[in-house]
Order: sequence, then structure tokens, then C-alpha cells
Amino acid sequence: MTLRFSVLASGSTGNAFYIESNEQKFLVDAGLSGKQMDHLFSKVNVDPAQLTGILVTHEHSDHIKGLGIIARKYNLPIYANEKTWNAMEKSLGKLSLDQKFIFGMEEVKTFGDMDIESFGVSHDAAEPMFYTFRHDGKKVALVTDLGYVSERIKKTVEDADAYIFEANHDVGMLRMGRYPWSVKRRILGDSGHVSNEDAGLALTDIISNRTKRIYLAHLSLDNNMKDLARMSVQNVLHERGIEIDLQDTDPKNPTALYEVG
Ligand SMILES: [Zn+2]
Ligand SMILES: [Zn+2]
Repeated sequence: MTLRFSVLASGSTGNAFYIESNEQKFLVDAGLSGKQMDHLFSKVNVDPAQLTGILVTHEHSDHIKGLGIIARKYNLPIYANEKTWNAMEKSLGKLSLDQKFIFGMEEVKTFGDMDIESFGVSHDAAEPMFYTFRHDGKKVALVTDLGYVSERIKKTVEDADAYIFEANHDVGMLRMGRYPWSVKRRILGDSGHVSNEDAGLALTDIISNRTKRIYLAHLSLDNNMKDLARMSVQNVLHERGIEIDLQDTDPKNPTALYEVG
């Protein structure tokens, strides 16, 4: 009895996350083309036709690009909150009524042997939210696309066995980089993305003895590098005496299916 997951793809070019228990198989977001999504599934030996459903975090295209296509192709239910549905529905194409489900903000839903809890984040979308997954005493938290990590979020995601956590940018690289100031301000702002250092600081508050592994996710292609993200987060944790297994994620390649426990 356990939880297994793979970060199928992560970054501003497209996000998709897969998690399964013995009975349930969920995809969170489908931010790459239908063809790319199929390719990612085949790389981790998951048959998308077997999915329980697709959870959506928010309507940005790097999270829903292939959503309509995958949902239609495999006749899968989609779960999102009402405002996200309103914001994304037009771009999904035709779906049948029995594919549309509401997953409210700050709600816990039980699907067989898995409990999924949603929590709101500060990000420039209609009503962005992320999820924790619980099964048989294990907990996994998915936290990306947020301007800052509030106390409320910390409470919800604390004490998990594994995290998929945003380390979007290096503040120095972003400031020095080629982006126009308006874009820099958006990324650095409260509704943007979490920097490497802020990820490290938030993680020091939320991880516990049971935390075994952290995947650094949603890295900016222009304003970050895998090594830099890992080192920055590691430094912050190290200063507080915490040693933990930090893993990379990739925009195009899935992480190996990881068994929590
Ligand atoms: Zn976003
Ligand atoms: Zn995103």
C-alpha cells in the first residue's frame, strides 16, 4: 500500500504531474500538447486510459494546453474549481457534461483509497489552487505557481513525505536578465513565482523528520539552472542543519516513478 508519483514535465513550457495509489491514478494538469502528453505517459509506462481523472490547478496554458485533447481521447473526468472552469472552458473544445466536475477551494475529496485536498495560492489566474495527496498515512504535496508561501499554505502542506515545490528563478539572474521590467515585476510580485531562496526558506518551515525527498519544480528556462536551484535551496536548508534529498525536474522528461515510504 503506497503512493507513487512522477513529475511528467515541469516548467513554463508545460506542466504535468502523475500520482497513483493502488486504486487511484490521477493526472494533475496537462500543459503540453496531446502528443507530448502521450509520449510522457509512455515513458513512465502509464496507460492514460486507466486514469481516474485529471485535476486542474489553474487555466494558464502551461497547465491546460493538452487538457481538452487528453480528456476527450480517453474520456476522462476533469476536476477544477468554478472560476477556473469559467476561465478555461472555451479553450478546451467540446467536452461532454459527464466529464465536468467541480473541485472547490479548500476542499477534501476522497477517491477510493486516496484523499485529495485543495488549497488556494496567490498567483495571477482566476482561482489558482494546488493539492496534497494522502494515502495510508503517506502525504505528498504539490506546490508551484505561487507568488509567496503564506502561513495558511504552510499549515496545509507541512509534514509531508515528499514535495514537488516551485523554485522558479534566481533573483539575481532575473534582475540582470533580458525580460522587460513589467515581466520581472510580475514574476517577483506576490502573484508571480517563488524564487530559489524563498523556496528554501519556506521548506525549512514545512518539512519534518518524515520528509524524504523534494523535487524542485517549475524552473524558469531563462532565469534559473538546475544546479543553481539545487545549490541555492540546499544552502538555505544546510544553514539550518537540514540535509535532504533534492531532485531535479525537467521540462521534457518525466522523473522516475517514485514510491513514497
Ligand atoms: Zn501559472
Ligand atoms: Zn505555470
